[in-house]
Amino acid sequence: MRLNRRVHVYSIPMRARFRGITQRTGLLFEGPAGWGEFCPFEEYDDDEAMAWLACALEAANDGWPAPVRDRIPVNCTVPVVSPERAHEIVARSGCSTAKVKVAESTLADDCARLEAVRDALGPAGFVRIDANMMWDVDTAVTAIKAMDKASGGLQYVEQPCHTLDELAAVRRRVAVPIAADESIRKADDPLKVAVSGAADIAVIKVAPLGGVRKALEVAEACGLPCVVSSALETSVGMAAGVALAAALPELDYACGLATLSLLDGDVTSDSLTPVDGYLPVLTKPPVPDRVEEFETGEQAWINRYDRVLSKLTR
Ligand SMILES: [Mg+2]
Repeated sequence: MRLNRRVHVYSIPMRARFRGITQRTGLLFEGPAGWGEFCPFEEYDDDEAMAWLACALEAANDGWPAPVRDRIPVNCTVPVVSPERAHEIVARSGCSTAKVKVAESTLADDCARLEAVRDALGPAGFVRIDANMMWDVDTAVTAIKAMDKASGGLQYVEQPCHTLDELAAVRRRVAVPIAADESIRKADDPLKVAVSGAADIAVIKVAPLGGVRKALEVAEACGLPCVVSSALETSVGMAAGVALAAALPELDYACGLATLSLLDGDVTSDSLTPVDGYLPVLTKPPVPDRVEEFETGEQAWINRYDRVLSKLTR
């Protein structure tokens, strides 16, 4: 059921623990249009992984819609690190927007880190935070107000709580705009999520939404300004996220596509890392000419690919 395709299973160490993982694993394959990357997180079941494979197959078999811009502004990402380290990450990135992971340490620690980030960015930069659904409504309201102050003004807060009702409740009580992330990509039908009223901005990710074309439909359906974010792909999968950002009719915010620096290595020698806060738009995925360095051939991943492919083509 593998269509005689050779697949390359890779595993790349993370520079620091992120999203609970220390190693990023996935697989790559080539089709008539180029290379695709299939890298659903380990804990996802085959049903959830189907959209990820659809995204990889789109890149390999069909290619992407035409871009309407030739470079994409990106944010740097600040994990839960010391204020000194946060300052260094932002200052070195060349980005004028920083996304800071919060809600995993104390409010005081988060605020200290946000102060350091603002110091590194200067007054003209943008600071956004991501709480990954960790707060209840009251905690969110208190934390957002404190962090808005500590950061010298937040651009938006991403997914402060779990449900859309909670997002709407927070949104009524704070002045900081709310962005929906998990609410969209984890929905049973992302095309039907009623985010208006609950959020001001939509975070869209190309792999969990099933490819560039599907994600463009979701963006149009939700009717909000969009921010394209990665799912910690290598440069091959990242190019699909860049293609989505490049094809969106409007792009008002920096995108979360500068995450290759979180990986300690890449499958291509020409990595999609930002220069002066921008990524170039590629018309097709880069060739993974360094994949052998990270190749494991892990059978469990090949089996996963076969199972999900047969579900998808059933
Ligand atoms: Mg998020």
